[in-house]
Amino acid sequence: MREILIRGAEVVVTMDAARRELRGADLLIRGGEIVAVGQGLVSTGEVVSAAGCVVTPGLINTHHHLYQTLTRAVPGGQDALLFGWLKTLYPIWARMGPEEIFTSAQIGLAELALSGCTLSSDHLYLFPNGARLEDTIAAAAELGLRFHPTRGAMSIGESAGGLPPDALVEREEAILADCIRVIDAHHDPRPGSMLRVGVAPCSPFSVSRELMRDAALLARDKGVMLHTHLAENDEDIAYSLHRFGCRPGQYAEDLGWTGADVWHAHCVKLSGSEIELFARSSTGVAHCPCSNCRLGSGIAPVRAMRDAGVKLALGVDGSASNDAGNLIAEARQALLLQRVQNGADAMSAREALEIATLGGAQVLGRPELGSLEPGKRADLAIWDVSGLEAAGAWDPVAALLLSGPTRVKHLFVEGRPVVQDGQITTLDLPRVIERANTLARALAR
Ligand SMILES: [Zn+2]
Repeated sequence: MREILIRGAEVVVTMDAARRELRGADLLIRGGEIVAVGQGLVSTGEVVSAAGCVVTPGLINTHHHLYQTLTRAVPGGQDALLFGWLKTLYPIWARMGPEEIFTSAQIGLAELALSGCTLSSDHLYLFPNGARLEDTIAAAAELGLRFHPTRGAMSIGESAGGLPPDALVEREEAILADCIRVIDAHHDPRPGSMLRVGVAPCSPFSVSRELMRDAALLARDKGVMLHTHLAENDEDIAYSLHRFGCRPGQYAEDLGWTGADVWHAHCVKLSGSEIELFARSSTGVAHCPCSNCRLGSGIAPVRAMRDAGVKLALGVDGSASNDAGNLIAEARQALLLQRVQNGADAMSAREALEIATLGGAQVLGRPELGSLEPGKRADLAIWDVSGLEAAGAWDPVAALLLSGPTRVKHLFVEGRPVVQDGQITTLDLPRVIERANTLARALAR
């Protein structure tokens, strides 16, 4: 079995129960597993120097729409609120197909990997022109990232009072049948799994009450997780009150959308009682601070959610509403936004890093990830703090959030190198970028 010794890190941030940070420490990986962490480890296998580096658990991204990578900075959507932004982009997305979905996933996942991410979820809720969930799965497998794709869906088009154009919605029976198909074909529930499929109707305003309920029943029957957008902004709350006669938390609870196997994106507008409901039911939240800023949605009550015991993780959200996909930068944004709302001591750099790592593992139900301890899977990010961005830093761990770097030197997933010396090892990235630009230009025509 392949053995790799990560040697002589300036600091190893373990994220173990005691939150130990080990100076001058090594980390031994065998196969896909961490077998030892500490000083003076020896190995006859491969050695990777971590001199001048901070080693952290791999960061975990819990909300994304990878397909949007080909629609960054679209002029008509640059300055719009959520609903107007969606209406600008839907017709462009309707022109996509399998190749656009695959290439955009390659770009989005490569960007995440370079920013320290070892596990990403994805929320694909439109399947135009023959696109399938498999198009994103292929991209993640090629790159070597751990992947939690969710089979999204929209079923209420404009003619039925919904937001998306009719061409982008599917029949509800077909949605459920395809959820079953992709779960049976790809979901791997075993510990250490590289691929877990989830069920994810797009949002309460694009599918029916019946589909929300049936999706929850199906996911529980199959033992997979549930994901959607919830309480994203004021328009979203108003829609819920008007259309369903209740707030989003009540709607979610009534339809089976609370529990340890559920995580909701955004939750910017959760009320105090909704926060209590989420804490009590172990429901997870994917906090997407850049997207919330970009779309003017507001500041999520992260401090209140954390204090109440809500499981909270980070998401970069779709590349069309961020428009970056840099996960360590997202952690920094989470910290800054809480300080805007709650003061300078509202969130420490270490808490932001914890949310980005352990928080993600908790939300996605992966206890074998999120910390660097013997027996855990070998997903780790190695950050060179000897360069420009961290020059002059007194605390290299805090510097990762407060100053940089924002790109990894090395990245390992399941003990395999995905980034080495700042370069993706598994993709011809310049060729992929060229292809993405060609496809984006064609979409603009
Ligand atoms: Zn989203």
